[in-house]
Amino acid sequence: MKYFDAHSHYTHGKFNRDRHGLFAEMQKEGVAYIVDCAGEGKNRDLALQLARKYDFYYVCTIDDHYYKTDWDYEARAGEINRLVDETVVKLKKLCEENKKIVAYGECYIDFRKVEKTAEEVRKQSFWFGKDLEVARKVGLPPLIHSGNADQEAFDVIKQTDMPDYGYGKGMLHCYLGPPQMALDYIDLGYLISISGLVTHRSARGKNLVEVVKKVPLTHMLIETDCPYLTPEPFRDRRNDSTLLRLTVEEIAKIKNLYPEEVAEQTMANAKAFFGIGES
Ligand SMILES: [Zn+2]
Repeated sequence: MKYFDAHSHYTHGKFNRDRHGLFAEMQKEGVAYIVDCAGEGKNRDLALQLARKYDFYYVCTIDDHYYKTDWDYEARAGEINRLVDETVVKLKKLCEENKKIVAYGECYIDFRKVEKTAEEVRKQSFWFGKDLEVARKVGLPPLIHSGNADQEAFDVIKQTDMPDYGYGKGMLHCYLGPPQMALDYIDLGYLISISGLVTHRSARGKNLVEVVKKVPLTHMLIETDCPYLTPEPFRDRRNDSTLLRLTVEEIAKIKNLYPEEVAEQTMANAKAFFGIGES
């Protein structure tokens, strides 16, 4: 069985000791592709280096050049648009030079650590919208991170005119929203990515089981978000892509399919979505 891990963080310090050995083991265990969400700066440099060394390794990046969340975004709209344009030029060049950059993100909206006041919602929605704008202008599909922001994220995404990159306009990373909303996202042309939380017997895990029941396999991606979100029964351990097998098995059980079918279809979806051909 072969897998595609659509979202991981292998530039994280938790992998500094054993990254290369782990990659060798992962490939033996059937991990055929990973998309590493590396952010920017030193982590991105490392990711691009790893992408040159490992055929199975692809990169998702972001740039915070325009991300001035302490600015009065209404008063300084012109300046912000200029920074967005500069970012787009810079990223387009980077993508030209590095063909293994396949997505933009994490495009971020999250109210888990701040109070969800009307002003905070307006502010975060604005910056989240700017992330989506950069993704669209660079020509990369956005990878979306939404935390306690189900409706707010949906409202911004719904208003954003995003092109379809062959197999979906963007990916809802580690989807935790309501099952019906997952279908609404699919109607908008987005893909739903399921993490190892589906194996957890928490409220989030139980909700995710209902999401998996509803979302057709043709619109599903799978991810580890490693080193985070380790599936059961290894919850206290560092996560890595070899454990994606447990998520595949859980999805198969929920949908009454063979694990091979889940692995194969999510692989085909991810390859089409990220534009990765046969290798
Ligand atoms: Zn992540």
